[in-house]
Amino acid sequence: SVRLKRLYLHGFKSFATPVELCFDRGITAVVGPNGSGKSNIADAIRWALGEQSYGSLRGRQASDVIFAGGPGRAPLGMAEVSLTLEQEGESLGLPFTEITVTRRVFRDGESHYLINGKRVRLRDVLQLTASLGPDYTVIGQGLVDAVLSQRPADRRGLFEHAAGIAGLRLRQDEASAH
Ligand code: ATP
Ligand code: MG
Repeated sequence: SVRLKRLYLHGFKSFATPVELCFDRGITAVVGPNGSGKSNIADAIRWALGEQSYGSLRGRQASDVIFAGGPGRAPLGMAEVSLTLEQEGESLGLPFTEITVTRRVFRDGESHYLINGKRVRLRDVLQLTASLGPDYTVIGQGLVDAVLSQRPADRRGLFEHAAGIAGLRLRQDEASAH
């Protein structure tokens, strides 16, 4: 089994100051006022795991995830998110108990991916994400209401659909890379 252990954010959307979030076993709830950055945390998880659609991250382009400045704070030049997974066994195909995936993007659009501190290609990250399979699903705001109003059978279909999409995306990405 695989679980999310830690999330480090620096310069990602509203997170100008570096912050590390640690997740215990079981369920974690993130609470805070409107606009305080709760959904930005979910965006950071998907972004670190290789999300390529800035629309689904509620932006239009790569630089939209970089801290744009705020009251008394200058914009930053880089966004970085590191996500640490803990695995039992080797279901992620790597011989480590802890796997940290890091993604960085600079204002000129240059981006880096690292796994346990070593530079890798996007496709290595997408492969890792695909190997998470249905262990990893991020359900966005709005979809929650839709899910709650569904009958259980329909709800299951949605999860199956979500679980299948990551693999499809990876295959599509590989096809267009050749
Ligand atoms: P709600 O309860 O309404 O869903 P939330 O806690 O989920 O709110 P988010 O959507 O995570 O809030 O955060 C939105 C905030 O993030 C806005 O204030 C927005 O200005 C800020 N934000 C988004 N992108 C950036 C950026 N690139 N630079 C600075 N701030 C940003
Ligand atoms: Mg929100």
